[in-house]
Amino acid sequence: MEDVILIRPPCEAFSVLIGVTEGCTWGKCKFCGVYDGKSLVQRYRVRPWDSIKNDIDMAWLETGGSAKRVFLAGGNALSAPTGLLIDILKYLRHRFPHLDQVSSYAKNHDILKKSDADIRQLADLGLTTVYMGLESGSDALLKYMNKGTRVAGMIRAANKVMAASIRLSVYVILGLGGNLFPEHATETAKALTEMNPDFIRFRSLNFIPNAALYDEWKSGKFKELRPVEILQEQLYIIKNLGDGVTSMVLNDHVSNFSDIKGKMPADKELMVNALEATIEDPYIKGLSHENRTSM
Ligand code: SF4
Repeated sequence: MEDVILIRPPCEAFSVLIGVTEGCTWGKCKFCGVYDGKSLVQRYRVRPWDSIKNDIDMAWLETGGSAKRVFLAGGNALSAPTGLLIDILKYLRHRFPHLDQVSSYAKNHDILKKSDADIRQLADLGLTTVYMGLESGSDALLKYMNKGTRVAGMIRAANKVMAASIRLSVYVILGLGGNLFPEHATETAKALTEMNPDFIRFRSLNFIPNAALYDEWKSGKFKELRPVEILQEQLYIIKNLGDGVTSMVLNDHVSNFSDIKGKMPADKELMVNALEATIEDPYIKGLSHENRTSM
C-alpha cells in the first residue's frame, strides 16, 4: 500500500497531526504540486472513524495526553461530514484535556456548505483555527490558476468562520501574479481589507514538477517574478491594506525572501520600511530564482 501524503502549515510543525481526510476534494489548482488527484496517494477520501480514533489513541500514548495543539490533517479536512468532525473534537477533548488549539485547512466551499449552526458547534467543541488559501484576490487569476472558487465566496466563508469566533488564517501566494503582476497585488490588498482575517500568511510561488503550472513555467508561458518583484508585490499589498485591517501579518514560510512580521495597523510602517530596505539591497536586486522547484 502506498503511503499517504499529509500536509500541514509550517506553524503546525510541533502539533499532533491527526489525518482526517486524504487528498483534496478539488485537486485541480494549477500551482499545487501536492494533490493533483492522479495517484492513489492523492485521491480524496474521508478516513474511517475507527482509523482516526486509533490515531488519536496512539498520539495520546506517545504524548501522555499532554498535547496542547492538534492539526486535523488533509488537504481540506473541514470537508469531512460535520458529525464525524464533532466525534473527533469530542474525543480529542477527552484524550487531551489541555488542548488550546485545534486547527484545520479548509476550502471556502467546505465552510459554505456547512450551516452557521454547524460551524458554531465545531467552534464550541474546540475547533479554534482554520487555514484557508485565498492565494489571490483577483478572480481572473484564480480562474487562470483553476482554483475553482471566486473571491466573493472566500470572503463569505471568511465572515462565517470569524462570526463563530474561529481564528482565520489566510494564505496569499506571492509571485502568483506572473503575467497579471499588478492585478494580483491590487486585488489581493482589496480582498484582505474586506476579509480582515486574524492572520495573513504569505508564501512565495514555487514550481513543483507535478503541478500543471510547472510546464507553463518551463515553456515560458507563465512569467516568473524575480525575488525583488515578489517583494514589491508584497510591499504593495501591505501598503494598501485598509485602515480597518487588524490582522497579524506573517511571512512564516521558507519560500519567502524576507521575514517581516507584525500586527496591523500598529506595525504597518515598520513592515513597509523593512520591505523597502530589502528591495533596495543590491544583493536582493540581483537575485534570480533558485531552488524554486521544491515545496
Ligand atoms: S491548493 Fe489546496 S485546494 Fe488546490 S488542489 Fe492543492 S490542496 Fe486542493
